Amino acid sequence: MFKLEPLKYPYNGLEPYYDAKTVEIHYSKHHQAYVDNLNKALEKHPEFFEYSLDEILTNLDKIPDDIKTAVINNAGGDWNHNLFWEQFKLDANHEAHGEILEKIIKDFGSFENFKNEFDTKAKTNFGSGWTWLVIDANQKLKVVNTSGHVCPISFNEFPLFTIDIWEHTYYLKWQNRRPEWVETFWKILDWDFINQRYLKFCKNK
Ligand code: MN
Repeated sequence: MFKLEPLKYPYNGLEPYYDAKTVEIHYSKHHQAYVDNLNKALEKHPEFFEYSLDEILTNLDKIPDDIKTAVINNAGGDWNHNLFWEQFKLDANHEAHGEILEKIIKDFGSFENFKNEFDTKAKTNFGSGWTWLVIDANQKLKVVNTSGHVCPISFNEFPLFTIDIWEHTYYLKWQNRRPEWVETFWKILDWDFINQRYLKFCKNK
């Protein structure tokens, strides 16, 4: 059985930027539902309970057709939200720095170029989905959009951080004003975490 990963901060831990009510509903209702629905789908093929989330999402060709859509939606929903919650910290360095900043400048020309591309893709990603900074198969940084809960690890890309642009992420506080959520997102992002994630990838490649 899969379990909801604990949050490392209380529901109000990202105030005043990301409000407690939205965090509570997003985590304890939406994220929880993906975990529950993943478990429900896998009950039909319990051998996949032996797999980790990463193993499921990198072996989707092995998932039987009758549960494949449910698994993509809900294993992805669980994996993506795990990274989403983990990458935030109120009392953190919210400026890009270290090796990841050097890599961003190398691959995008400047941090501003990167941020403009990320913001534009997040604001214009149509419908429900996610915008990501990933390392692609050629070790290059890329900004990618996915729809629904499609997770880039399923196509051999390594996510460094991500923004959830499903309406449930921002609607309580900002209603239809997604750009305000995208701008707020940068104020809670923990760049020490992202740099460590990047260094971990470099060490394991
Ligand atoms: Mn979400």
